[in-house]
Amino acid sequence: MMATTHAFAGLLVAAAASAVTGDAAPLVFAAGLFGGLFPDFDLYAGHRKTLHFPVYGALAGVLAAGAYLLVGGTLALALAVFLLAAALHAASDVLGGGLELRPWEGTSERAVYDHFNGVWWRPRRWIRYDGAPEDALVGLALAVPGYLAVSGTLRTLVLAAVVVSVGYAAVRKPMVALAERLVAATPAPVLAYVPARFVEDVA
Ligand SMILES: [Zn+2]
Repeated sequence: MMATTHAFAGLLVAAAASAVTGDAAPLVFAAGLFGGLFPDFDLYAGHRKTLHFPVYGALAGVLAAGAYLLVGGTLALALAVFLLAAALHAASDVLGGGLELRPWEGTSERAVYDHFNGVWWRPRRWIRYDGAPEDALVGLALAVPGYLAVSGTLRTLVLAAVVVSVGYAAVRKPMVALAERLVAATPAPVLAYVPARFVEDVA
């Protein structure tokens, strides 16, 4: 799934938390958006493993929610929303495609790493690959409640993310073809300086 789809799912977590608690502080919604996005910051270093914690993350989120129930306050709520959104991201990566460069070919059996059991969860491919048309559609649907609940800068941010989502889905496949052509056209001595993971799948 696209990072933006995860961000919208995080926003939905925030919208639900805000509706239940009556706390509609922008910080809570920002925490949902950012928490949904956060695990994919491991894209260049152990993707879907380094910052993806489907089991421990969920545990941390539940503990933080418990802490909020005890102490209250916007900050505690935002922390719980952040952790739950990040855990939801990690766990829901299992619904998408694998880690390969062309996930629509379905050759990878690695969706997300479960640190608790020390195994990779296999991709279910309900959303066939990140940037698939159904990915953009699910993202749009997830974004609606959050979009309606926020205002000002956050609302602009959600709109911008929707544009990015749809734009990325539109160029997802041509982008890989372009990368392949770039690698083919790059002289070998230059390729030596490009990190292997960008080259080996393409070349
Ligand atoms: Zn992810």
